[in-house]
This record gives sequence, C-alpha cells and structure tokens, in this order.
Amino acid sequence: MLYEKLGDGDVRCRLCSHNCLIKNRHRGVCAVRENREGVLYSLVYGRIISINIDPIEKKPLFHFLPESTSLSIATAGCNFRCKHCQNYEISQYPREHTLSIPGKDTTPEEIVNAAIQNNCKSISYTYTEPTIFFEFAYDCAKLAHEKGIKNVFVSNGYTGKEAVRLIAPLLDANNIDLKGSDKFYRNICGARLEPVKETIRPE
Ligand code: SF4
Repeated sequence: MLYEKLGDGDVRCRLCSHNCLIKNRHRGVCAVRENREGVLYSLVYGRIISINIDPIEKKPLFHFLPESTSLSIATAGCNFRCKHCQNYEISQYPREHTLSIPGKDTTPEEIVNAAIQNNCKSISYTYTEPTIFFEFAYDCAKLAHEKGIKNVFVSNGYTGKEAVRLIAPLLDANNIDLKGSDKFYRNICGARLEPVKETIRPE
C-alpha cells in the first residue's frame, strides 16, 4: 500500500514520513519493505514477533477502557533507530540481520479470535512502530471493528498523511510519543520532529 512506481524499477514509499526512494532489490529505512522489480513488498505481513495480553494501562492509557486487557502485537522492524530503544532486539532486527525476518505467520482472523477468546476489549499495535506493519494492522483493525473490538496504536507519529487518513477511522486510541527537540530526533532517533507534530495536530 501507499507507494508509487518511478520508472527504471525505482519506487517511492509514502507509508511514513521518510518517503524512501527504494531501488530494485533494496529496502527502505525500516528494512521491512523491499522493492522487487518495481513492486514494493511488505516483508512483515502477519509475521508476528511479539504477542501478549497487557493491561491497557501499560500502553499507557488511563482513561480508555480502564482495567481492561489489550491483545498487544508487533512485527519486527521500525522506521526509527532510537539509541535508547527498550525493544531494540525486535525493532532493529531486520536492519542487523538483513536476510531474515523473524516471526510466526499469523492471520488477522487469528489475532481477532485471540482477542475475543481472551476477553480483551482491544488490540494494541505496539512494541515496534505499527506503521511499518501497516497492511497487517489495517486488516486486523478492520476485522476487529466488525467484531466489536477496539484498536489502539502506540506510535512514534511518523506515519505519513495518507496512512493516517486510512487508519484513523479504525483507531479508537492513538498514543503518539513526542520525544523531544528536532535535534533530539535527528541525533537519537534518525528522524525529524516536524512530521510527528503534523500527525498529532488535528486536521
Ligand atoms: S515505511 Fe517509511 S521507512 Fe519504511 S520504506 Fe516506507 S517510507 Fe521508508
């Protein structure tokens, strides 16, 4: 989703604010989207690396379905490279092990059924940046709403504008980190501040 073909086999990914120009057989900054002969593939669709039942207060949300549990999922990869990342092993894995994407193949139906069976009121897309597994999060979120389950993004806010518009109607809560100054974003996260503010700012 959300890329364009540029000719000569190059593609431009517009999923997040890095807007990567990706040459054939190369990956974007997140290291989980690869250009194969002019088609941009997500390498993490359904490749769940982490799945837990967490209290919603761990997201941390204190006024949203309080005292409920949230089925929390992630794939490997991230569009940030924060030097202090507490989930470094999974967020930076694809960048450091370029030939493999770890995880267990899972369907949106399995995720939503797991939430229902475990009496979770919501599904949280968290631990790594959910934007980089956008297609899977989108499919899960759509199905979750059909089944009466809420959706929560725990995000760095580097989601591109089009992606925000697509996912917003399916989200019931979105916790976006505002980490610091532009200098901090550049030096510590490998990103910029302004796109994060743009995501937070109401349209
Ligand atoms: S999701 Fe972001 S980091 Fe990954 S390829 Fe697309 S624009 Fe680049």
